[in-house]
Formats: sequence, structure tokens, C-alpha cells
Amino acid sequence: MPQASIPALVLSTSPLNEQDKLVTLLTADQGLLKAVAPGAAKMKNRFGSLLEPFTEGDFHYYWREDRELVTLGKGEIRKSFFSVVSAAENVFYFYLLAEITLKFMQPGHREPRVYKLLLAILRSREKGVAMDWLLLYFLAWLLRSEGLLFNPRRCSNCGARDLERAWLRNDYRGLLCPACRSGERLALSRDELEFIAWTAAHAPGQCGEWADRFAPAGLIRTLTGKIEHHGEFTLQSRRYLREFH
Ligand SMILES: [Zn+2]
Repeated sequence: MPQASIPALVLSTSPLNEQDKLVTLLTADQGLLKAVAPGAAKMKNRFGSLLEPFTEGDFHYYWREDRELVTLGKGEIRKSFFSVVSAAENVFYFYLLAEITLKFMQPGHREPRVYKLLLAILRSREKGVAMDWLLLYFLAWLLRSEGLLFNPRRCSNCGARDLERAWLRNDYRGLLCPACRSGERLALSRDELEFIAWTAAHAPGQCGEWADRFAPAGLIRTLTGKIEHHGEFTLQSRRYLREFH
């Protein structure tokens, strides 16, 4: 049987039957990989804590031509983020990050930036950067890496720059200045526009610079709405976050 080993992050696990689990990995450069982990549903199993959410590891797997799912053999943990991911104040944010990634990465989608982005978010949270700002950073970069982010510094109709305030088009595909707006309701302030532009050249660990500039909840809702609109799905796990109430 052909086999391989690949660095990846654990995005989700679910019971497949009494013995086995279904695991979805985000690989470093091959997109999503769905695998059966034999025996992983048993109390004592060879995977140990390897399959905890957002564990970064090297995963060994093999496959058969006639099977859709690959089979996990074993693996080594590179880095466990379990204490960060499972902390009560973080866990629902990471549910949402995993759900967005799972829904956005279609089969065959091999964008390596999403993997690096998630690792940077995890490491930044470990260092104490505020979780809501990290979510916002993730949303902006996910849209950018997919080519879906609007230009935060330009009216998409008349080309006006240096916007004090702007409105998102109803199809989420561009900004409108005050003169071009006609009833659009999703408004972005100058600081929100600046933050989006800022993320292009700064790491998530630097988000602390923004703490006093604006409250991130509004822009989190707007960018999440944009992701749902383009992906044509509804995110179940956002209901657990205070930003959406
Ligand atoms: Zn305009």
C-alpha cells in the first residue's frame, strides 16, 4: 500500500463507529485530508493526544486505490495547543476558526497560507494576544488569501481614496464612499478600514497595537457575513460568541 507522511493541524474529529474516528486534517500544503484513525475511539489508543483539536503533528498514513479515505498509521506531535484551544475563554473562537476553515477549503484547495495563518494565530494566542482581535485578523487574511477582500482604501465605484467612512456593497464585493452609497447598510469606520489594510503587512502578534482604537465586534460580524455570503453557507458555531449577540 502506498504511504506518506505529512505535517498537518487537526481540525476536527468525530466518531466513525465504536472503534474508529474520522479525522480531518489541514495539511501544510495539500489542503484538507480526511482520514480514518483506527481504534482512536477506544479509551486507550495509540494516538494518545495527537488527535486533539489544533495539534500540529507529522501524520503517517496509507491508502488504497479503491478507498476514498486514507488511514492514519501513527504520528508525532510537533506542538500541542490543547491548553490554549480548550481554555474556556478561547474554545468557542477556535470552534469557529475550525468551522470556517473546514467549510472554506474545498477538496483540492491547496492554499498553504491558511495553514501558516492558523499557526500564527495559535502562537499569538499563546503569547496572550486578545482572542477577538486574532479572530478578526484571521477573517481579513482568509478573505485576502482567497482573493475576496475588497480594497479598504478605495471606493469601488468612483475610485475615491482616503475614506473617512465607507459602506459595503450588498453583494459584499466592494466599498462605496458617502457620495456613491445608495442605501447600503454595512458601514466601516476609518479605523476599521485602516486595520484591514494594516493586516497586509503585519503579523497577528502585533494586534495589541489596536486595542484602544475600536471595538472589534462590529467588523467581526461584517467579515463573517462576507465569508458566509461568498461561501454560501451559515456558520453554526458563531452563535456561541458574544460578538454575535
Ligand atoms: Zn465613490
